[in-house]
Amino acid sequence: MTRRAWIALGSNLGDSAALLNLALNAIAKLPQTQLQAVSARYRTAPIGGPEQGDFLNSACRIDTNLAPLDLLHALQRIELDAGRERHEHWGPRTLDLDLIAVDNVAQTDPELTLPHPRAHQRAFVLYPLADLNTDLMLAGRPVIDWLDSVADQAIERLAD
Ligand code: ADP
Ligand code: MG
Repeated sequence: MTRRAWIALGSNLGDSAALLNLALNAIAKLPQTQLQAVSARYRTAPIGGPEQGDFLNSACRIDTNLAPLDLLHALQRIELDAGRERHEHWGPRTLDLDLIAVDNVAQTDPELTLPHPRAHQRAFVLYPLADLNTDLMLAGRPVIDWLDSVADQAIERLAD
């Protein structure tokens, strides 16, 4: 079964622009998967965690036949290949790939909660998703309906 899925990408360590390119290329090469759309890039201030540099964020939409958990594991493999080490929760990272939603899949497994439970609270997820002209619903409302509620979060859309 082919499903649409939305992935949020972030990096604030190393050459973040190159790491996002690397991640998008790797996502495009996943088995049984087609990369359909990529958002603009955004510079965002980190939320929570230790003192750390700004993030570069983006989002993409894919069509995939991979099961959601297989897709998550494939994304985690890409994170590791990009040199990600898991130290501090919410700490700086070379590459973070969060699975935001997979069509109408709803589950609360701690290993994979869908839709991502905090996506609707984060400007760095919502703005890139909004670029994808998505009808995606998060926490009961369409993505663009959440934008006003994150107006206090610093985010800058970067030129192409
Ligand atoms: P975070 O992105 O929250 O800063 P991590 O990337 O280290 O932290 O992920 C923490 C855990 O979240 C992972 O072990 C993963 O299994 C779990 N997880 C649950 N739901 C999701 C999701 N929708 N997307 C990505 N990871 C998820
Ligand atoms: Mg993550």
